[in-house]
Amino acid sequence: MFHSRRIAIVGGGGSGITAAWLLDPCHDVTLFEAAPSLGGHAHTVSVEIDGLTCPVDDGAAWFSDPLYPHMLRLLELVGASTRRVGMSWGFEDTTRDTTPLNLPPHGVLGAFQLLAKGAWWSDLVRLDNALRAAEPLVAERKTDWRWTDFVAHHRLSPRFAAKVLTPIVAGAWGAPADRIAEMSAYTLLKYMVLHRPSTLAPFSWHVLRGGVANYVERVASHLTRAVVHRGTPVTALRRDALGWIVSTEGQEARFDEVVLAVGAGVAQRLLKGVAGVERLAAHVGAVETYRTRVATHSDVRHMPRRRSDWNVANLRFDGQNSRMTIWSGHPWGLPVFTTPIGEGPLPARTHHVSTFELPLLTPDHHRGQRALGGLQGEAGLHIAGDWTRDIGSHEDAVDSAIAVCERMAPHSPNLARLRLPRVTRFGAPIGNPEGVAA
Ligand SMILES: Cc1cc2nc3c(=O)[nH]c(=O)nc-3n(C[C@H](O)[C@H](O)[C@H](O)COP(=O)(O)OP(=O)(O)OC[C@H]3O[C@@H](n4cnc5c(N)ncnc54)[C@H](O)[C@@H]3O)c2cc1C
Repeated sequence: MFHSRRIAIVGGGGSGITAAWLLDPCHDVTLFEAAPSLGGHAHTVSVEIDGLTCPVDDGAAWFSDPLYPHMLRLLELVGASTRRVGMSWGFEDTTRDTTPLNLPPHGVLGAFQLLAKGAWWSDLVRLDNALRAAEPLVAERKTDWRWTDFVAHHRLSPRFAAKVLTPIVAGAWGAPADRIAEMSAYTLLKYMVLHRPSTLAPFSWHVLRGGVANYVERVASHLTRAVVHRGTPVTALRRDALGWIVSTEGQEARFDEVVLAVGAGVAQRLLKGVAGVERLAAHVGAVETYRTRVATHSDVRHMPRRRSDWNVANLRFDGQNSRMTIWSGHPWGLPVFTTPIGEGPLPARTHHVSTFELPLLTPDHHRGQRALGGLQGEAGLHIAGDWTRDIGSHEDAVDSAIAVCERMAPHSPNLARLRLPRVTRFGAPIGNPEGVAA
């Protein structure tokens, strides 16, 4: 017998808003979002430059066919419009006086330079070999190897590992340089393995027309009954014999169940001392997070020296740190870029800075994800969010909402429309099959 229940969703990022849309036909849903607008890490900044307004996504932006089946299906279902962008990328070691490695090469001259440069050519072959070696890791979802285990197991040349491969994965992830060694090799390599081009054409990715924030608002516009409170941070959660009490500034409301769709750090604070969910809270508490600052700017010093070497994604390694600058103004030919700057100085002509909290994806983190899966729903508490599943992509945020709905409203018509067979190109399960013991 199905009973409609009162559900509070805390957090209106990709996972929270998708959970609201999935549960909306079946339960009385109230979503609380702390910020004035929905989206969380799906965040669009409007930059005025040269008389034009340029929408820049400084968090989630890129979605591909192999890695984002549910995300792309969701976009289709809510009528969000995307366009395809060929992802050209380059790697430059700024301590060496060479032209960057550009993929695909820039024109006939670029191809000639690539062939002529013995050093890049051999690194390219090594890179391809390393990605082939990583295929079984991804196919078998082997999450227990640290980065250093992968490098040692495949006996990668120390120079190639230290000066090329590690800077590439570190820059692409924007993770702290001093923590890469302990991160999961599976996580660091999955994007690159699934997007390894089979030709010299750039891999094609989807981006949202007008910015990623558009899709979040479109999902919200498809809610029929759910109530959405923007600019309403949840300040405390507690339980009594009748269920959950959700506190916001100055108000309290009762719910039967709670979906916590916030970052791990906020979840840790909200679950502290809540009776009856100690085991879930302990696993959430074990998640290690770090903060990153992303600057949207027009400082060309973050780009390759010669404009003819500019790519959509530009990795630059200074011998210590590696950073990836995205040329966000690329569709309009405008000098607008996004760069993760950590604690470093702001670029010149900075338009906006966002701070994001991210989980440190180590083998321990993946073990914790599996343990969390087995405890979901305990005392009416469900934890969603990208960090609860797989590599913490936007697909994982959507996938975490699907998992919530499978438990709370398995007959939801929206779930039936969104859910796809859970297999990837390699036949491995997407996300984190729940209930698997750590
Ligand atoms: C710089 C960067 C680039 C990225 N690029 C990509 C990409 O290209 N492709 C991709 O797939 N993924 C990308 N990601 C990852 C992607 O952004 C995330 O996987 C996804 O957006 C996270 O969604 P979420 O709902 O799990 O969490 P969040 O987006 O963090 O949502 C949590 C929400 O909870 C709200 N909240 C916090 N505290 C409270 C409170 N007390 N009460 C109520 N609400 C609260 C927050 O304001 C936020 O809206 C990127 C991430 C970053 C940081």
